[in-house]
Amino acid sequence: MRSRRQWPGRVTLGYISVLTVAFIMAMLAAWSSLAEGMEGSAYDWMFRTQPPKAETADSVIVAFDEKALGATGGMRNIRRTLATALERIKSESPAVVVIDIVLPDATDTGDDIILERALAATPNLVLGSEVVPNADRWEDPQPAFRQHAKAVGHVHASPDPVNRKIPLEVIAGRDRRWAMALEAFRLRSGAAVIEESLDSLQVGQTTIPTRRETGRALYIRYVSGIPQISVVAPSFAGVRGKVVFIGVTAQSAARDRLMTPFGRMMTGVEIHAQAYETMAHGQFLAPASLSSVAAVCLLLTVAAGCIFAFLSGWAAYLTAGALLLFAQVIPHLAFSRGSIFPYLAPAAAAWLSVFAAAAWQYFVVRRQLRKSESDRARYQQAIHFVTHEMRSPLTAIQGSSELMGRYNLNDAKRKQMVEMINSESKRLARMIQTFLDIERLTDGQMDIRSEAFDAADVIGPCLERARPLAERKQIELHVAEIEPLTLSGDRELMEYAVYNLLTNAVKYSPAETVVTISAKRDQNNLRVSVRDQGIGMDEKELRSIFQKFYRTKKAEASGEVGTGIGLSIVEQIVNHHGGRMEVTSEPGRGSCFTMVLPAAASKLVSQ
Ligand code: ADP
Repeated sequence: MRSRRQWPGRVTLGYISVLTVAFIMAMLAAWSSLAEGMEGSAYDWMFRTQPPKAETADSVIVAFDEKALGATGGMRNIRRTLATALERIKSESPAVVVIDIVLPDATDTGDDIILERALAATPNLVLGSEVVPNADRWEDPQPAFRQHAKAVGHVHASPDPVNRKIPLEVIAGRDRRWAMALEAFRLRSGAAVIEESLDSLQVGQTTIPTRRETGRALYIRYVSGIPQISVVAPSFAGVRGKVVFIGVTAQSAARDRLMTPFGRMMTGVEIHAQAYETMAHGQFLAPASLSSVAAVCLLLTVAAGCIFAFLSGWAAYLTAGALLLFAQVIPHLAFSRGSIFPYLAPAAAAWLSVFAAAAWQYFVVRRQLRKSESDRARYQQAIHFVTHEMRSPLTAIQGSSELMGRYNLNDAKRKQMVEMINSESKRLARMIQTFLDIERLTDGQMDIRSEAFDAADVIGPCLERARPLAERKQIELHVAEIEPLTLSGDRELMEYAVYNLLTNAVKYSPAETVVTISAKRDQNNLRVSVRDQGIGMDEKELRSIFQKFYRTKKAEASGEVGTGIGLSIVEQIVNHHGGRMEVTSEPGRGSCFTMVLPAAASKLVSQ
């Protein structure tokens, strides 16, 4: 048997389906609630391992720290202390002054008048505003203060519980406020407006990647080294030309102490200064788009599929290991390029698809191995049978020729021997020819002859040849109906097919039964049927009988000699003529094999 080179069932529809399921499961896992906590921790880890480039800080924090509150009489006097500090800061010419203390209500009038005067004298002033808890409105600075501000920005952060980002935009009621840090950045850049698009904000020359649907989240690149000066410090020389953030840092008074990805607590004013630094240095981080995440995951799945389809053994496992490693590294690579890539999605896609592909190939390869082993066993059986079959004409030829050589035979005897040698050697030649044809037919190398012949001319000789076999079992060969039809195709192959169906029907039927043959036209087809009252087959057996070397258990047990190749050849012959085989069968009741040939291969003889 010639073996043809092929991918042994490696990339099949089943394989692709299994990988698709793995991909979908990975996507579902990546967007499940399980993923959320994990993504946060992974983000913090990358954040710590890949700190931003060190830059000189462009901002300064002027802090109401413990010392300042102690020295100035605490939060009660905060407005007076703030006013004094503003006067001193102003004389150092800062670029922008941001006050992270919401000043909504009027207090002691004396303090408010001093503060208003100080605010009026402060250039590029940004005041803070916050949303009233559980109410959809803003708590703005009182109008007397507000009139002196260049901008009013919101003071909100977004702890989750770690404060990785701040919303650059917050809407309450009908009013929208930009974050204080963003307003400070706008004033510092000298830009008049903040231009908006769906996925970014434009401030002067700087494009801030931030999507509208995320509330304009800005991921903060926390840096160390933003200088902090106490609001009661003897000198404010450090604020010259800088963006100054004034706020409360004293542990006893600061309301807004939040966790950062570094695992340290930070006050609100520090977080806003950090957000400002992120914008000032353009060190932005933006989440990767959904489509790019899905595309990367799909590529990983395809890669896993290819690895197990085209490699095997250790080579496949090692390459798959490298793929898994790469999947873990992807978020780190993306992070170093300013993109926040989910951690779970590529990992899940790679692990699930590698697992699915490896399992699939393992089981498929094992099944194929088992199948090829049983094919080989059956093939050997067939070879034994063939050699056995060939031996009988050979023995007859050998014996006759020996007799002729050794003895002086009379003419009649000699003639009989010669005829015997002649017919047996012809039988042998036919046998060899049939086996060669079968092999070539299987390999698709044989040209099918195309000649026109009557169906009756094929069926008749087959019946004659099968009759002795049937008579031995007292089986009646009944011709039901043979319509006058002309077939076009290979007559010898057709004869082979019909003869095979007839002998099978006889072989697998008990004595004293009837085998019926018919040939009719049905719409565009010609149907040649052989019906028996034999052992029959169940559904499962029916599915396998056209496989090479397959024999049912009942057939094996019947004692009838067989190879299990006949039907596979019959089917190939019919297929080569553009037709198909139909079989109906019932265990113990009998079977009906029908060759359905298209009208193209048959034509009705006009009478
Ligand atoms: P063989 O007859 O040499 O075993 P075939 O390829 O002709 O091989 O048939 C394959 C198998 O199909 C048989 O072994 C038998 O199990 C089953 N089979 C074929 N024809 C019949 C039939 N008419 N009735 C019952 N079983 C059949």
